[in-house]
Amino acid sequence: MLVLKTIKEVREWINGKRINGKKVGFIPTMGSLHEGHLSLARVARKENELVVMSIFVNPLQFGPQEDYMTYPRDLEKDSRLAEKVGVDMMFAPSSEELYPTYPQLTTVEVTKITEKLCGISRPGHFKGVATVVTKLFNIIMPDKAYFGQKDYQQVQVIKKMVGDLNFPVEIRTVPIKREDDGLAMSSRNAYLTKEERQRALCLQEALKACQVLYRKGERKTERIIKVMKERIDREQKIGIEYIKICDAITLEEVQDIEGTVVVALAVKVGSTRLIDNILLGDEEDV
Ligand code: AMP
Repeated sequence: MLVLKTIKEVREWINGKRINGKKVGFIPTMGSLHEGHLSLARVARKENELVVMSIFVNPLQFGPQEDYMTYPRDLEKDSRLAEKVGVDMMFAPSSEELYPTYPQLTTVEVTKITEKLCGISRPGHFKGVATVVTKLFNIIMPDKAYFGQKDYQQVQVIKKMVGDLNFPVEIRTVPIKREDDGLAMSSRNAYLTKEERQRALCLQEALKACQVLYRKGERKTERIIKVMKERIDREQKIGIEYIKICDAITLEEVQDIEGTVVVALAVKVGSTRLIDNILLGDEEDV
C-alpha cells in the first residue's frame, strides 16, 4: 500500500490509474483506525477497483475546547491495518499541506440540518467537516465515498452537500460496527477508563429499550425518550447532551414515529463525549 503525503503526488497517482476507467472508492477518516473504519474499507474494496483512504485530523472541525491536540494519532499502525483490508493508497497530508493558509477564506456550509443534534453543542463542526470533505473530494475525485452510520448527522450533511452542489460522487452509508457488548466503536473509546467503559454501555442499553418499546407498538417519542433518559440517569457521572427522535432525512424532531426515524443520543461519560444512534421504522436497523 502506498502512503502519499502531498496533493500533487495523489493527483498524479490517481490520474495514472484512472486511464483505464478504474472506479475509485474513498474513505475519509481521522485515523486511529478500528474495525468500524475497516468495515467501510471492506465494503469499498468489494465495490471498486481502487480504494483510497485518507487520514487527517482536521483542525477545522474541532471546537476550541475540544480534543484536537490529544486526538490519538498512529500512522504506522493505521497503515498496517489499512493494508490488511486492501486499501491501495493512503493519503496522509500534514495540516500545512491541506491548509497552506489557515483559516481558509473559503468554507462550505450546509444550513438547517447542521443546526440540530451535534450542531448545537459543536458550532462550526459541520462546516469544518463539509469543507475538508469537499477538499478531499476535489483532490481524489472518487466515484463512491464511504461514511459510517455511527456519525448519522454527518452522513446526512454530506449527502445534502453532494446533492445541492452536484458533486459527481455516490455517498454510501455503512452500518455501525459495535464491540461484542454493544458499545459503538469509536477512536474516542480509548479515552475511557475501565470503569467508564462499563458505564458507557448505557447508551446501547437505552437504544435497546427504545427498540423494545417501538416493537411493542409505542409511537409517542416523548414516552420513549423518558424511558431512555431513565436508563442513562441510573449511571453515575454521566451527562446527557441530547436524546432525540428525528425524521431520518430532515433531522426535525417528531412527536409520533412514522416512516423512518433516527433515534440519536450524545452523552458525556466522564469527560469523553460519545454518540450513538439507531434507525426505526421502514428502514429499521436489525
Ligand atoms: P472518524 O475517523 O471518526 O472521522 O471516522 C471516519 C469514518 O468512519 C466516518 O465515516 C465514521 O462514521 C466511520 N466510523 C467511525 N466509527 C464507526 C463505527 N463504529 N462503525 C461504522 N463506521 C464508523
